[in-house]
Amino acid sequence: MNASDVFVIGGGIAGLSIAWRAATRGLTVTLADPDPGARATRASAGMLAPVSEVTYTEEPLLRLGLASLERWPAFAGELEAASGIPVDLRGDGTVEVAYDADDLAQLDELAAFEEKLGLRVERLTGRQCRQAEPMLSPNVRGGLLARDDLWVNPRRVAQALQQALQNAGGRIVRERIASLDDLSAGHVVVAAGAWSPSLLPGLPIRPVKGQILRLRGPRGFLSKCVRATVRGSEVYLVPRDDGEIVVGATMEELGFDTRVTAGGVYELLRDAREIVPGITELDLAETFAGLRPGTPDNLPYVGRHGGVWVAAGHHRAGVLLAPLTADAVVAGFFGEADLMPECSPARI
Ligand SMILES: Cc1cc2nc3c(=O)[nH]c(=O)nc-3n(C[C@H](O)[C@H](O)[C@H](O)COP(=O)(O)OP(=O)(O)OC[C@H]3O[C@@H](n4cnc5c(N)ncnc54)[C@H](O)[C@@H]3O)c2cc1C
Repeated sequence: MNASDVFVIGGGIAGLSIAWRAATRGLTVTLADPDPGARATRASAGMLAPVSEVTYTEEPLLRLGLASLERWPAFAGELEAASGIPVDLRGDGTVEVAYDADDLAQLDELAAFEEKLGLRVERLTGRQCRQAEPMLSPNVRGGLLARDDLWVNPRRVAQALQQALQNAGGRIVRERIASLDDLSAGHVVVAAGAWSPSLLPGLPIRPVKGQILRLRGPRGFLSKCVRATVRGSEVYLVPRDDGEIVVGATMEELGFDTRVTAGGVYELLRDAREIVPGITELDLAETFAGLRPGTPDNLPYVGRHGGVWVAAGHHRAGVLLAPLTADAVVAGFFGEADLMPECSPARI
């Protein structure tokens, strides 16, 4: 079908990043996607938060997240210069807050774990939380400040990647690829998110639905990214430079269902309002649902598999892991050291 050096299937953040990086290293690149940037990448909140997202069994994911976070400022800078599109990378800190005594006990345990891992977090009283972020409710019991976490606008990143790829000579074809059989590129990359198993049967990736909301308010309504546990359930509020506040997200195992439900919206707004009561005054600008590409061990598959390259299964961290994933796959094209050995598809 095609005689490029590289043929990428899927134009979410994974495929677009790989395609752009490959093009900047002088390879001819074609990327196929009927609607680039419109799936999980469009849903994503864009938190680059390996520290505040760390969980007890996922230390390999933490290492990858920290390695990719380190790459983000240069990646964003180069991307903005190559595309002329600002991607709204911000780093004013993340406050993680607890609503009731049980939530606080859970956060304290997490803080102890983060400190044991050598991560930089500061414990805050309820009052210090409100000093850090004045819009927080007086009911917030206490929290943590993670200064190193960043966030970005993934929709802008996807737009910038498409522009930068084309500026670097890459080609985007708006097609759905039905089979790998007739592709004749030097390297074929399957980066089709939750749909990757349709091209590589047996790849254990499943869709994990996330409902997410966009509110619109005055610029600077929130100064920080806020993550909270409210009576055991998690919610986050991510501010953008244009006054948008992203409120997310549900985690649902419902196959390829992308309906936005009254219950999903209700739960997100209920929990977000407990933490930042002022959100009830904002416009509800958008409701959306996306499908995270989940894997059995929550690590993505990045590497050679069945005669092609695969870069899929990034679950909750695909935006965070994009720069590292792109560098890892392109390093693989050139026979360089494996940057993500934990993610080898050989573990399937
Ligand atoms: C609600 C929500 C919030 C999230 N928040 C965060 C966050 O804060 N931080 C973070 O790091 N991650 C977050 N994520 C996860 C992140 O969005 C995903 O891990 C990431 O977008 C996956 O990127 P991808 O390119 O693999 O998949 P997608 O973005 O889903 O892209 C896959 C692409 O492949 C295309 N495709 C499929 N089949 C074919 C085919 N046969 N031929 C051609 N093209 C095909 C699709 O059209 C699609 O564009 C969130 C996800 C959700 C749903």
